[in-house]
Amino acid sequence: VGQEDAAYFVSLIRSISGFPKEGILFRDFLPALADPRGLSIVQEALLKALPVAADQFDAIAGLEARGFLIGPQLAAALGKGFIALRKSGKLPPETLAQEYSLEYGTATIEMEKEAIKPGQRILIVDDLIATGGSAQAAAQLVSKAGGSVAGFSFVMELEGLQGCAALEPYPVSTLVSMP
Ligand code: AMP
Repeated sequence: VGQEDAAYFVSLIRSISGFPKEGILFRDFLPALADPRGLSIVQEALLKALPVAADQFDAIAGLEARGFLIGPQLAAALGKGFIALRKSGKLPPETLAQEYSLEYGTATIEMEKEAIKPGQRILIVDDLIATGGSAQAAAQLVSKAGGSVAGFSFVMELEGLQGCAALEPYPVSTLVSMP
């Protein structure tokens, strides 16, 4: 997308300090999705910035909840399906689960056991990459299900946390880098 569109999109990202807890600068792209021009810019930008060619993956998997806001429209635009990676306890069995570490404690993501066909190549999407912990867990879950990870697409990247480096050697694309 052009510079003007990119700047317009970035201007719609809301930053909230101290949410959800002290010391966090929360980056919220919902206002950009609420805006008709913002919504079409993000879709176009994600399509243009795919980390691998569209024929190099078969489906898109998105992380709950904000990965659900970009994954399905991207998948539909590319003629692919969408797979939901959910927080634990939301899906009926049978599920596959992957635990991962948070700053304090652990979290678990789950997917339907048969959601991925053996050998399917999966592009993983989310709104934002910070440490890369949830993205790594998503990759482990996709592998556990018999899929292979084709790459990752994020709208925002937090600088200084080495999140994308943690995903090497997978191809990664991010649209906006933020402090
Ligand atoms: P991480 O696993 O550390 O890469 O964190 C990424 C996940 O946590 C994504 O699902 C984000 O939506 C969320 N997240 C982490 N930090 C922030 C932040 N500063 N602003 C908004 N979302 C965040």
